[in-house]
Amino acid sequence: MPEKADLKDRLAAVRERIASAARRGGRRPEDIVLVAVTKYASMDQLRQLIELGHIDLGESRVQQLAHRVAQIEEFLQRHHQLSTGRSPDFPELVRWHMIGHLQRNKVRKVLPLVRLIHSVDSLRLAEEIQNAAAKYEEPVEVLVQVNTTGEKTKSGVVPAAVRHLTEQLDTMLNIRPRGLMCMAPFVEDPQDARPAFELCRDIFNEMRARGVGGEKFNILSMGMTNDFEVAIECGANIVRVGAAIFGPPAAPENAAD
Ligand SMILES: *Cc1c(COP(=O)(O)O)cnc(C)c1O
Repeated sequence: MPEKADLKDRLAAVRERIASAARRGGRRPEDIVLVAVTKYASMDQLRQLIELGHIDLGESRVQQLAHRVAQIEEFLQRHHQLSTGRSPDFPELVRWHMIGHLQRNKVRKVLPLVRLIHSVDSLRLAEEIQNAAAKYEEPVEVLVQVNTTGEKTKSGVVPAAVRHLTEQLDTMLNIRPRGLMCMAPFVEDPQDARPAFELCRDIFNEMRARGVGGEKFNILSMGMTNDFEVAIECGANIVRVGAAIFGPPAAPENAAD
């Protein structure tokens, strides 16, 4: 099965590059969490990735997230019911990350599905989460998405407003702010993404130094296929990588997977 070998090799290569970038930045490879972004992956690839022991998965659209969570739940259950043929790497559970823009009317649907929302970018969205989360025992963990590029079309909070929004989140009982997320502008040379990552890191560090967001405010989610090594050098401890793991986007799948 050549495809499986490809996926395994690509995952190993990404992990190796993450480890080197971490060491260059004086950090331990195991301190960087790799979220595999599955938006262009086939269900087959997704199952293979889980069989390889991978547990952190990201989706950017609510519809596809819900669809995939359901399919993967079923896959995990079936696997755990089988007494033979278990792969030793097979995880007990997977953790889903919502990484894309979240509309307020989708909040109730998303909350039960995900471990971390990377993309909180307004007080109104936060208030919706606060209300919808009242029925859960644990606060919903979120990151504030920072617009580091000044591009109007990109979502995210302008740098000057990040601290204030985080302080507001911190007063909400059902929300726990865990850190910041940003996307760099798309550039040919990944080094050109560095200023955006450094800006986000500086905001993050200053907030932590002042205790904004509390003790658990310790996640910096930045870096994608094109620029994750630079992001790690700039302090990222979560990277969100799709194409480098799954290959370049294929033609859209039909619904029959
Ligand atoms: C698609 C996406 C990624 C991953 O992009 P790749 O270039 O495939 O690695 C990361 N973060 C967000 C928010 C995305 O939408």
